[in-house]
Amino acid sequence: MDYGFATKCIYGNGKDYDKDKTGAISFPIYQTATYAHPEVGKSTGFDYSRLQNPTRQQAEKIVASLEGGIDALAFSTGMAAITAMMELFRPGDHLITDADLYGGSRRLFDHVNKKNGILFSHIDCSTEKLEDYIQENTKAIFIETPTNPMMNVVDIRKVSKIAKAQDILLIVDNTFMSPYFQKPLELGADIVIHSGTKFLGGHNDTLAGFTVTNSRQISDKLRFLIKTVGSGLSPFDSWLIIRGIKTLPIRMEKAQENAKALVEYLLSEPRVKKVYYPGIPGSKGHEVCKVQASGFGSMLTFEVESRELALHILKSTKLIPFAESLGGTETLLTYPVTQTHADVPEEVRIKNGLTDRILRLSAGIEDKNDLIADLRQAISSFA
Ligand SMILES: *Cc1c(COP(=O)(O)O)cnc(C)c1O
Repeated sequence: MDYGFATKCIYGNGKDYDKDKTGAISFPIYQTATYAHPEVGKSTGFDYSRLQNPTRQQAEKIVASLEGGIDALAFSTGMAAITAMMELFRPGDHLITDADLYGGSRRLFDHVNKKNGILFSHIDCSTEKLEDYIQENTKAIFIETPTNPMMNVVDIRKVSKIAKAQDILLIVDNTFMSPYFQKPLELGADIVIHSGTKFLGGHNDTLAGFTVTNSRQISDKLRFLIKTVGSGLSPFDSWLIIRGIKTLPIRMEKAQENAKALVEYLLSEPRVKKVYYPGIPGSKGHEVCKVQASGFGSMLTFEVESRELALHILKSTKLIPFAESLGGTETLLTYPVTQTHADVPEEVRIKNGLTDRILRLSAGIEDKNDLIADLRQAISSFA
């Protein structure tokens, strides 16, 4: 049975849950570390919770069904998912990654993976010719689209054709769009990454990460890694993710509606110099985003006239918190230069257009008029 997306958010691919026969509608939290075996050589399917736990398995099944993958793995954080995934590579392997990525991913690549002998080319995958960077030892391309925080749109289908022709893996961090708006596996990606902390969880109350794939071989390798490195998602956090995903479609729609209203306001605000949002007609990633995604999401970035104004806004909003993270019910405003991207070298930041006048906003699901009024009072109270 192939259910529609909203049904999958609640039931995954089917209602095979709750084997405990109580009829519980909410999936139980199996708060157990270990499991009794019926006899030697037999298993209930669960042996030890580092390997697998029923609640985690349910979260994984739902996420796999949403991305159209054959398997998903739930990790304790998005970075744990990316860290485990990077163990697919060995010293001497080369990866091409987008230059504008979540700062933590860039930090992992440059400060952990590089030390272990992995080589990187960080390029602008939305404009540069990827073929020019492919070497004999290139094993994977890692992208986000839209990118964080500059909202560059990368053409997933185009990159996947290049990758497939050379037998290179395409890894897409789909955190910003969530599977509600964009399904990279259908566009040719081999592995999808999520910070489940963001839209999947959706309530700014837990951390989680996922890898999703439609290759049995990759899934086997990743399952070996999660049980070995031990960064699987806890039962309670798995339950929070299961619960969060139930409302993913309605949250995504409302957050996008709010983002569009905020973009409209910001475009009319003289002290705002530029708004980066792929939903703006004529903006650079608009056409590609329209084709590969079913929406433009609720993340937006804007540049104000001065650093002083940016700092003033961050301390003057009364409703919108100045906080990292995104994709939750609360609208959050952050300052990438000192917060999410502080570890990205300054020359890289400048090249990417990430100045000290840039603010990033994740629209939540509040009343849009309250959000606009809050930003307006923060901007207009600047001397
Ligand atoms: C937050 C984020 C991550 C890291 O996820 P954590 O859950 O914070 O570890 C990775 N990629 C993107 C795009 C993110 O926004």
